Amino acid sequence: MSQSGTLYIVATPIGNLEDMTFRAIRTLKEVDLVAAEDTRHSRKLLTHFGISRPLTSYFDHNKSLKGEFILERLQAGASVALISDAGTPCISDPGYQLVRDAVAAGIRVVPIPGVSATVTALSAAGLPTDAFTFAGFLPNRQGKRRERLTQLKEEGRVVVYYEAPHRLLATLTDLLELCGDRQVVVARELTKLFEEFVRGSVTEVMATFADREVKGEVVLLVAPAGGTPDAVDPDELLNRYLADPDLSFRDTVSRVAGETGIARSEIYGRALELRNALA
Ligand code: SAM
Repeated sequence: MSQSGTLYIVATPIGNLEDMTFRAIRTLKEVDLVAAEDTRHSRKLLTHFGISRPLTSYFDHNKSLKGEFILERLQAGASVALISDAGTPCISDPGYQLVRDAVAAGIRVVPIPGVSATVTALSAAGLPTDAFTFAGFLPNRQGKRRERLTQLKEEGRVVVYYEAPHRLLATLTDLLELCGDRQVVVARELTKLFEEFVRGSVTEVMATFADREVKGEVVLLVAPAGGTPDAVDPDELLNRYLADPDLSFRDTVSRVAGETGIARSEIYGRALELRNALA
């Protein structure tokens, strides 16, 4: 009986090509077949890294048929790497069914970790990250979207959404109406030239984007109302940041509001009190 091959789930950059890992490059150079969400898009990436392995498509609308083909190749002993257009396959990207079927068929599945927009955004957002909820894309239809946002009221952790730039303001408007003026972070164009983090309450972030078009790729992070139960003590944070000569009063307030999920206006008032007490 022939030995099955291995399915590698390979993360690729979300913008900056320097985020490709050595292991990803080596794996992609060694496999018999690369399955990509968009072969034309991925060909450019592979060419950039001098990788010239056979390429086949695996995307949402051909995944049943293509999945069978890939499984047959794996069962015949071939090694296959799955990549998506950007980031980690299977995370709001095709791949889950292939992994599930490969596992069921007794095929070895090896992750080759790298970038994901979720973790990249969380790591620099300044929100509590000990526990979080990844909620993927909100539904396209407004009714369903609002329904999903309403569920946020019950959530005690930071929630991470992938959002289309042209829908961001509509989503923030719904969020404000349904869940109040939460602390949010918009992480835009991560790892790219125009990378930007906009932090603040929903109204503050909406004001920032009011007179410009939101462009590029966006991750939206929403803090729970009133912070998480085990959130850090705001006074402790305020005292620490107020004592930091590199931080302005404004930055201190933004940071503490972001990290605690407590309204900026509340933090502002408390920061004034503590600053006056220190003077
Ligand atoms: N599999 C990918 C991952 O691991 O992050 C996510 C793929 S999903 C189809 C694409 C969404 O991820 C975008 O609409 C955006 O919300 C987010 N995203 C991807 N790249 C990004 C970037 N450079 N900056 C901000 N968000 C990004």
